[in-house]
Amino acid sequence: MKPYSRTETVWQRMNDEERAACHAYGDRYKTFLNVARTERLASREIVRQAQAAGFRPLSECTALHPGDKVYYHHKHKSVILAVIGTDELTTGLKMVGSHIDSPRLDLKANPLDEKEGLVFLRTHYYGGIKKYQWVTMPLALVGVVVTRDGASVDVAIGLDADDPVLYITDILPHLGQTQATKKVGDAITGEMLLPVIGGHADGDTSAKDMILRLLADKYGIEEEDFTSAELEVVPAQDARDVGLDRAFIMGHGHDDRVCSFGNLEAILAATPGRKTQVALFTDKEEIGSYGNTGVNSSYVVDFIMDMLALCGHDDHRALRDTLRHTEILSADVTASLDPTFADVMERNNASLTGYGIALTKYTGSRGKSGSNDANAEFVGKVRKIFNDNNVPWQIGELGKVDQGGGGTIALYLAAWGCEVVDCGVPMLSMHAPLELVEKADAYAAYLAYRAFFESN
Ligand code: MN
Ligand code: MN
Repeated sequence: MKPYSRTETVWQRMNDEERAACHAYGDRYKTFLNVARTERLASREIVRQAQAAGFRPLSECTALHPGDKVYYHHKHKSVILAVIGTDELTTGLKMVGSHIDSPRLDLKANPLDEKEGLVFLRTHYYGGIKKYQWVTMPLALVGVVVTRDGASVDVAIGLDADDPVLYITDILPHLGQTQATKKVGDAITGEMLLPVIGGHADGDTSAKDMILRLLADKYGIEEEDFTSAELEVVPAQDARDVGLDRAFIMGHGHDDRVCSFGNLEAILAATPGRKTQVALFTDKEEIGSYGNTGVNSSYVVDFIMDMLALCGHDDHRALRDTLRHTEILSADVTASLDPTFADVMERNNASLTGYGIALTKYTGSRGKSGSNDANAEFVGKVRKIFNDNNVPWQIGELGKVDQGGGGTIALYLAAWGCEVVDCGVPMLSMHAPLELVEKADAYAAYLAYRAFFESN
C-alpha cells in the first residue's frame, strides 16, 4: 500500500485482501467499544485479552528475559503491557501511549432527587463536552459502588438490549422561544443534565423510594453508598457501521479507544524484537492527566523502574538512560477536516478523513502554548518507519492557528526526557456522545503502532 498521499484515500490504496482485513478489524473494534464503555471496563478487557495472549503480572516475575510478556493493572483504571526485547532496557523502550477515559457525565455524590413525580440523577460532567448534545438520547449508568462494609459492587444499567435506559429531557420547540435566543453553550447548562431514572410511586412509597428499593434488590446498595461510588452516564447506543458502504463507525469514546484498540491489537500481534515494547493505556487524559491514574503521576515510571530492577538495574542512571533513549507515540485522536465546518481548518495542514493515521508534530493553543513540539529528527525517524512499512499516514495540525487548540499526554511523557510525537486517528464530531471515525483510519492506527513496536 502506498504510505502517503493527499489525493488517494486509504480505501483506494488497499487491495481486496487489505479491505477485508480492515472490515474484520472494524468488527473487532465495535465489539471492544461495546464492552469497554468506561476506563474500568476498558482496562479489564485489555487485561483479559493480554492474559489470554500469555501476559503475566509483573509482580509475579522474579527476573525478566527476552520475549517475556508482562502487565500491570493500576487501580482498576490504567494498564501497561510490555514485551521484553533482546537489547538492554537502558537502550530505550518503544512505547505507544493511549488513554481509555472519555468525556461523559459522572454522578454527583448525592445524586438522587425527585421533583414533580420525576426521579432524576444529578451529574457533574467529565471532560470537554457540548452539553446540548447529551439530551434526548438513550443513556446507560455504569460503574462501581463501594458499600458501607467496603465491598465493591459493579453497576450496569442500560447496556443489555432489554434493559431500561436513562434519558435527559429538553424543552419542546413550542415553548422554546427563550432557549432559542441563548448562545448554544448556554441553552443547556451543567445543572440541567439530569438523567431521569424513575417515576413510579406506589401507594405511600415515593417514586424515589421505589428506585432505592429497586437498587437495594438488584445491587444491595443504599442511598448513602452513592457517596463512595464512581458511576458514569454514557450513551447506551452500541457502536454501529455508518454508510451504505460501511466506511465509518459511530460510537461513544472513539477518543481515545480507537487508538487504544489499535495499541492493544498491535502489541498482541507484534513480533518481539530488540527493543522492549510497551503499550500504555492511561486514565484521566480528558481532565489533564491529573490524579494517581493519570500519566502526570508516578505509576508509569514506577513500572519502568520495576522492570529495570528485575533486569539487575537499581541505580538512577539506568532509569535516566532508559527514559532518555525511549521513543513514544502519543496515540490520541485528532480532528479531521469536516466539510460542514471547514472554516476552522487550514486545509493543507489538516488531517483528511480516510487518509490514514495522523502524525501531529505539535498540539497546544495559539503560539503552541502547552505543546510537546516533537523534534524533527524523531518525526523523521517515525516517518521513515511508516514509509518503509507501507503504513498509510498523513500530517495533521488540529486546526487554524488562532482557532483554539488542545493537548494530549505527549508533554508529560516528554518531561521524562523521552522522544515523543502525537500520532493518532483523525475523527469527526470529537467529544460528542457518539463520535465518527473512518474504518480505514482506525485500521491504519493498528498498522502504524505495530510497525513502530517492531522497529529498532
Ligand atoms: Mn484524547
Ligand atoms: Mn479528548
